[in-house]
Amino acid sequence: MNLIDKPKHKGKRKKLVSELASLGIECVKVLDAFSKVPRHLFLDSSFEEFAYLNKAFPIEVEQTISHPYTVAFQTEALQIKKEDKVLEIGTGSGFQTAVLYYLGASVYSIERQHVLHDKAKRLLHTLRVNAKLFYGDGYEGLPKLAPFDKIIITAGAPNIPKKLFQQLKIGGMMIIPLGENKQIMTLIIKTSNNDYEHIEYANFNKEFFKFVPMLKDKR
Ligand code: SAH
Repeated sequence: MNLIDKPKHKGKRKKLVSELASLGIECVKVLDAFSKVPRHLFLDSSFEEFAYLNKAFPIEVEQTISHPYTVAFQTEALQIKKEDKVLEIGTGSGFQTAVLYYLGASVYSIERQHVLHDKAKRLLHTLRVNAKLFYGDGYEGLPKLAPFDKIIITAGAPNIPKKLFQQLKIGGMMIIPLGENKQIMTLIIKTSNNDYEHIEYANFNKEFFKFVPMLKDKR
């Protein structure tokens, strides 16, 4: 694996961080985490040149690495604190996983595509990102490791997955792109075992929020 992180990459990251700030990402810790994660290593080398543009790219098996803005937005919405126990659904490239890790969270991430799970596991291990990666169906969550302080869903889901809601602590938050074809980014705040409040980010930089579907079962 070619793991070179050159000054030119660091320079491009700095520019990306400024762009994210100009788009409204305010949390310094989130921006700082972005300045640390070498996004070019999470993409196919043919995209290396474009890795620090605010763009989504295809990864294996017809999946995508999310827009940096989307990753930053979802992360900021969750107000991640050090030691937060965070469950991510859709490891994909592992980029979002690394951002959460650099914020000091204890990260658990599930992916249903074997190829992606394996690849992310190898890369994150090499980068010494100590997140726990699982191959499986995100709709099931990780009941044995629950409850979680925060849950982040990085694929479009038609509704709030019940089992994931159950695995959230009371007072915990879940960020989820809700909807099948078009999604509305939604923050769920669990107020009791059966209740929640929610905030919809309906008109917020919509063009960045396009997601591959959260599918049932493993393939
Ligand atoms: N967080 C990723 C985004 C990947 S796109 C990144 O930063 O690169 C969403 C991912 O969700 C895809 O890899 C897709 O395979 C995965 N996915 C879809 N349905 C899933 C499910 N039910 N369980 C786990 N992962 C799922």
